[in-house]
Amino acid sequence: ALDIVREAGLLKDKAYIDGAWVGADDGGDFPVLDPATGREIGRVPNMGAAETRRAIDAAAAAWPAWRARTAKDRAAVLRRWYGLIMDNQEALAVLMTAEQGKPLGEARGEIAYGASFVEWFAEEGKRLYGEVVPAHGTDKRILTLREPIGVVAAITPWNFPSAMITRKVAPALAAGCPVVLKPAEDTPLSALALVELAERAGLPKGLINVVTTHEAKAVGGEMTANPIVRKLSFTGSTEVGKILMAQCAGTVKKVSLELGGNAPFIVFDDADLEAAVAGAIASKYRNAGQTCVCANRLYVQEGIYEAFTEKLKAKVEAMRVGPALEGDVQQGPLINKKGLDKVDGLVRDALDKGATAVLGGKVHALGGTFYEPTILTGVTAAMRMATEEIFGPVAPLYRFSTEAEAIALANATRFGLAAYFYTRDIGRVWRVAEGLEYGIVGINEGIISTESAPFGGVKESGIGREGSRHGIDDFVEIKYLCMGGI
Ligand code: ADP
Repeated sequence: ALDIVREAGLLKDKAYIDGAWVGADDGGDFPVLDPATGREIGRVPNMGAAETRRAIDAAAAAWPAWRARTAKDRAAVLRRWYGLIMDNQEALAVLMTAEQGKPLGEARGEIAYGASFVEWFAEEGKRLYGEVVPAHGTDKRILTLREPIGVVAAITPWNFPSAMITRKVAPALAAGCPVVLKPAEDTPLSALALVELAERAGLPKGLINVVTTHEAKAVGGEMTANPIVRKLSFTGSTEVGKILMAQCAGTVKKVSLELGGNAPFIVFDDADLEAAVAGAIASKYRNAGQTCVCANRLYVQEGIYEAFTEKLKAKVEAMRVGPALEGDVQQGPLINKKGLDKVDGLVRDALDKGATAVLGGKVHALGGTFYEPTILTGVTAAMRMATEEIFGPVAPLYRFSTEAEAIALANATRFGLAAYFYTRDIGRVWRVAEGLEYGIVGINEGIISTESAPFGGVKESGIGREGSRHGIDDFVEIKYLCMGGI
């Protein structure tokens, strides 16, 4: 199945520093496994602090020439990169499915979604306008410039092995910044393939460096301690995000954090039932439930609870589970054994405390890291999954009676990334949308990601926004010029 990837020259076994494909200093490497089969699909270098330091130095050296170019010039390189990603969509999708496990259709979708950030920020880079501000004296003039912040360190997760990279790297490059990237240890191959295409697009050396490792701490330690790095952009767990934020305090780096969520999905009695079920499935079961915006708590109003449960069950029952490279499936494996154990532990806890599995509820008969598409009813706030991110194909249904109760329940979490609700009452649409303490709200809609909208969370879900015209701000500093004696 990987032939298409090899033929395209996109199966790499080296990291990429200063425009060269390189191994670890000590020659060490680690395997990348297909989560559907457990088979090794490649090996990549296991790098540490020394290689990271070299990558940071290479980025710093590449910066002056890149920032001196016109925005239009930088955009031309990004446009070529976008074109090459789309030309190789199928090979990149197969590679992603092989190392990550998501269904091929979803992988193709992610390649296009990831590429869209490159296209988008190629354009946005041209619009980093400054300002002329009315001055505080007749002999003065005030101007602002928006300048690239400098060397960016990026750390990305395995659930979107391509899009989480382009969403950071594209705005950084467009703004005039070089990047040192550490992809997730489970999915480094998609990152390396992207960089191969950036090289073919003519991106000068040193502007993207990829440090592969399965010792994240050492690489993250150097990235956060090194004073040359001016900005850390991280997507991953809240737990690790807090550690990195603390580590960045030592050199006062600007941080962008896209962290965990605990998304409520509220279905009111007056909702379009068909649409609510379709939205719940899209939001919950995409990527086997392994996204930070997946519905994590489904609150269903009492008048519609039984009907919703029945319809949801009928649809989810029909989903096919299996290895995504071997056929048409809607759900692949979970990423690894640790992920599987977490999901199963949360389900066991809920069942022990009185929830009912109306569908699934255990490890799939296929074995490995496959988990049954699961629906639990009678879930309560006392169960662990009410406050923890499940990251698996498990839909817990909670019952509520009033609008005010639904808002209060939805907000009763330290997270605040995405929330969803279904209703056909226009007044309620406004009240609930304004009442939810979240960065993203889907209203009669279960899929909210697009390059043109600002993605990001409040509370412990993060800092900053990615995508949209705001997504480039995180890589820019404002400089104020005060001109006197006029
Ligand atoms: P998940 O539980 O989804 O794997 P993590 O937050 O553990 O989320 O991982 C997201 C990214 O953070 C990965 O690239 C991982 O290697 C990296 N990471 C994990 N721990 C650290 C750390 N201490 N320092 C730097 N990076 C880390």
